[in-house]
Amino acid sequence: MTDSSPHIAESEISRDTPCVTCGYNLRGLPPDGRCPECDTPIDWSLGRYRLCLADTNWLDSLGRGVHFIIWGIVAAIIAVPATITCALVDVWILWIVPVGTGIVWAVLTTRGTWLLTTPEPTSPIPEERHSLRWVIRVCMMLSLAGIVLGVLLGRLGGITGQVLELVVTMLMCTRVIQNLGELVYVRRLARRVPDADLVRSTSRVLWTAIITLGLFFLADALVAGAGTLGNAVLIRGAGILKDVTSFAVLPVALWYTNLLIWYERVFKAAANVNLRIQSQ
Ligand SMILES: [Zn+2]
Repeated sequence: MTDSSPHIAESEISRDTPCVTCGYNLRGLPPDGRCPECDTPIDWSLGRYRLCLADTNWLDSLGRGVHFIIWGIVAAIIAVPATITCALVDVWILWIVPVGTGIVWAVLTTRGTWLLTTPEPTSPIPEERHSLRWVIRVCMMLSLAGIVLGVLLGRLGGITGQVLELVVTMLMCTRVIQNLGELVYVRRLARRVPDADLVRSTSRVLWTAIITLGLFFLADALVAGAGTLGNAVLIRGAGILKDVTSFAVLPVALWYTNLLIWYERVFKAAANVNLRIQSQ
């Protein structure tokens, strides 16, 4: 397979080319230089690093990984109202629906995340640059441990102390780091397509998620703080902020899912181009 980039032999990059690490536009710079923003070799952002030139099986893993994660989120979206309904109706047999969809969610997102973060076999970039993959995987395992421990705690009832509950909450919070990490991870892949619109949309979803979560935790702290101060106006205000940010999770999740559908399409298109190049 030869390098098909037309601009690699030029003395300077003649078209818009985002840096693979930070997204800085490398246009006008020499191909053998370094990114002025993050010092990444410019060469990494050129031809051979293009996503469609990556390993065929790896590209296939990316597409399948995103596909599993999307269906996992669908299962989670069904599980939430199902859990609320079961809690209200209190017919034990109905619990099959939220428990079943919960298990489906865990299995599909775990499988999907694992596939998405598969190491690239022929990466032109050193592996230490891919440490984000490990952060995502470790956070995923920790959050799964938190869920299992949480279920066991629920069964054990009042025997366990507050410390253990705090441990469970902290373990489950690693899911937030995992999901935000996934967005940063796929954004790097979008720069390799390169697809500027997809990069921009990913940044928007990422920042909206960070702001929503930040406001949620802030409201949570304010509720606790206002409670100790006994200020009624502050308690009410913090309560409203917490409700609003809780409800904002659903549209953000749908927006995130829509973005992942876009990624699945992009990964499949890259895999198709890759197959065409291979067969030439
Ligand atoms: Zn850069």
